[in-house]
Amino acid sequence: MNIVVLDGYTLNPGDLSWDKLKSLGTCHIFDRTTPDELLKRAADAEILITNKVEIRAEMIEQLPKLQYIGLSSTGYNVVDIDAAARHNIPVTNVPAYSTLSVAQMVFAHILNLCHHIADHSDSVKRGDWSKSNDFCFWDFPLIELRDRVIGIIGFGRIGQAVAKIADSFGMGVLYYDINPPVEPCNKFENVSLDTIFRRSDILSLHCPLTTETENLINKDRLNRMKQSAFLINTSRGQLVNEQDLADALNAGKIAGAGLDVLSKEPPAPDNPLLSARNCYITPHIAWATKAARIRLMNVVVDNVRCFIDGHVKNRVN
Ligand code: NAD
Repeated sequence: MNIVVLDGYTLNPGDLSWDKLKSLGTCHIFDRTTPDELLKRAADAEILITNKVEIRAEMIEQLPKLQYIGLSSTGYNVVDIDAAARHNIPVTNVPAYSTLSVAQMVFAHILNLCHHIADHSDSVKRGDWSKSNDFCFWDFPLIELRDRVIGIIGFGRIGQAVAKIADSFGMGVLYYDINPPVEPCNKFENVSLDTIFRRSDILSLHCPLTTETENLINKDRLNRMKQSAFLINTSRGQLVNEQDLADALNAGKIAGAGLDVLSKEPPAPDNPLLSARNCYITPHIAWATKAARIRLMNVVVDNVRCFIDGHVKNRVN
């Protein structure tokens, strides 16, 4: 089998091995592929692996040898899965490999907003502690999480993992989901969308990007939040109207934000959130711990192996 990996760099920047995939066929592994390079590189591919490179209907039509498309991600919006199905090409994804890593990142952002570890460390290195009159000093309000309320929008795998960690900190947990779990959970409170904005001290987004959830966080809803509230977004950038969030942060309408995703990645240098007050941004790395990438690599390879063996697993079309 001829296997082409279009954009393998973020999965394996050099600290993992492609050997298991190589054992399944002749592999051509590219770090990145531009839209212009796609057809040439994929021309002989029977198996195509993509993470963020778009594979649209007209491309599929021009790749007659193609038999299978494997995503090295959970989301599959970059592939026209219906067009693939029309050509009898199964498309597979990798569900749930990063749940715990993303939940951990949510708390990295929350704890950063509560303690400002990097800011204080920078301040100490600048000499501020050495000049201090006291044995300690702090530049930001320090916040204990116990009895604070976290609101979780999207109570799926990651949302529920976040709820468990929040519970262990002694926090109250509210959640909103259009399809709440069938088994109600006594510990966590299922509330309306309006309530979650009003009552949360920390609001964390874990729903997918859909036409319904695009711009879920906008001026109107930000105005309903507590002035002391923090917003955490590790889901998708387009859930947030970025200008509205920047305005709310700069005007003190909410107290801070921790974001792992932006509407355009990488962001334009003039993205208003890059300079917004008390806004911390990480470059879409919640999924990318080595443990999660090892799981991801294993499932990508297993999906290909299952396809070759004739029983497709994790098919999304
Ligand atoms: P999941 O499918 O297990 O859970 C999503 C939940 O959102 C479901 O319970 C669903 O019913 C709910 N939902 C759907 N539409 C909704 C709406 N309009 N309002 C409220 N709830 C709604 O997904 P997951 O594994 O928990 O992942 C959640 C999101 O996290 C993904 O969609 C993805 O965008 C994001 N993600 C980000 C990273 C990262 O590195 N930053 C990594 C993995 C996933």
